[in-house]
Formats: sequence, C-alpha cells, structure tokens
Amino acid sequence: MIEEQLIRRGITDQRVLDAMRTVPRHLFVEDAIQSQAYSDFPLPIGSGQTISQPYIVALMTMALQLTGSEKILEIGTGSGYHAAILSRLCQKVYTVERLDALVSRARKIFDRLRYHNIVSRIDDGTEGWPSEAPFDRIIVTAGGPRIPTPLIDQLADPGRLIMPVGGQEVQELQVADKRDGDIKITTIEHVRFVDLIGAHAWPN
Ligand code: SAH
Repeated sequence: MIEEQLIRRGITDQRVLDAMRTVPRHLFVEDAIQSQAYSDFPLPIGSGQTISQPYIVALMTMALQLTGSEKILEIGTGSGYHAAILSRLCQKVYTVERLDALVSRARKIFDRLRYHNIVSRIDDGTEGWPSEAPFDRIIVTAGGPRIPTPLIDQLADPGRLIMPVGGQEVQELQVADKRDGDIKITTIEHVRFVDLIGAHAWPN
C-alpha cells in the first residue's frame, strides 16, 4: 500500500507515510472485508457509508501540512480510520459524525488502540463544534455543495480547511486558507465522496 499506492503517486510527506504505516487499517473495516483493507479502492463501512481509498486519506492529510501541535476538527468520523491517522500527526482530534452506530464502533477501536487524543460526538457536523473552536485545521470527509459557513467561522487564523465541494456525483477537493481574515481557495483534484447531510449541506 505504502509503496505502490502512496509513494508512487507523489505522497512524499514522511510523517504521513509513517502514520499510514502505523495505523492498522484492517481494524476499521468490517470483518468480512478485512482481507481487502489495504486495497486501492474505497470500502463499505456499514450504514451506507464508505472509507476512502488509502491514497485519498494520505492526499488530504498531506494537504493539511501538520506539524504536531494542531487542534483538528474532522466532520464525518465514519469508520474512524482518518481520525486515527490524524491523531498520530497532531495534538488533538475532534471528530463529529451524524450516525450513532458508526461513532460507537469507532470509539471502541480508538480505545483498543489507546488513541486517547481523539474526542468524538454525534451531531450535525455542518454546525462545527462551537464550544471547542477555533481549530487550526478542519477536514470534511463527505461532499457538500459549499463549505459550511460555521466551519469557516470556527477556523483559526491562520488556519486551513479541506473539503470535497461540488455535486452529489463528483466534487473537487478544495483547500481554504484563512490568513489575516481573508479566505483563499485552491483546488487539488476531482474526487467522489458520500453526501454531507445537514443544515449547511444536502438536505436529509
Ligand atoms: N473519515 C471516514 C470516512 C467518512 S465517510 C473514515 O475514515 O472512515 C463520510 C461520513 O460523513 C459518513 O459516515 C457520514 O455519515 C458522515 N456525515 C455526513 N454528513 C454529516 C454531517 N452533517 N455531520 C457529521 N457527519 C456526517
């Protein structure tokens, strides 16, 4: 996975590669598909949701440019895999998921792995996590029509947010940089994510 899917495609950040080597991805997928956990495609994680392919996890993580001191907000806990990767590379991860079943499962894996710098909650993540703001980095792992305003408000200055933005079929990975009160958006590449559903995204 590391050599063929990541390094060969330009994932050069050594810390990201180390985290991807360390976190046991097979624990985060359902038992029946554990043998495919390190394959080059997204996988079902239950409740109609998917875990991104390893390359997309690495690409988004690299784009966050983490140094180890950051406080990160993740929207879309899903299996918990991406939160686990982030937790190895920053100070603390706050992750929000709207589906109870997924949060409960992810929490058990975090405990088992003793990843104690991850806190999670069940809520509409398009509202952010106001009581813990601001966040140095925000990552949204579901696709929406636009970046939710509460997330822009809860981003630290300077700070960086990454999110798939577009239609329900295909999105572009957008990076929003906040600096001196201004927001600058750049685009990385086209991706396909499951829907971000909430007050500031797609309706339920
Ligand atoms: N990061 C995850 C992949 C998440 S898939 C992983 O590593 O496995 C996207 C997740 O976003 C789904 O679990 C979906 O339920 C969740 N989601 C969608 N809309 C949401 C919202 N408004 N708030 C929180 N989570 C949301």
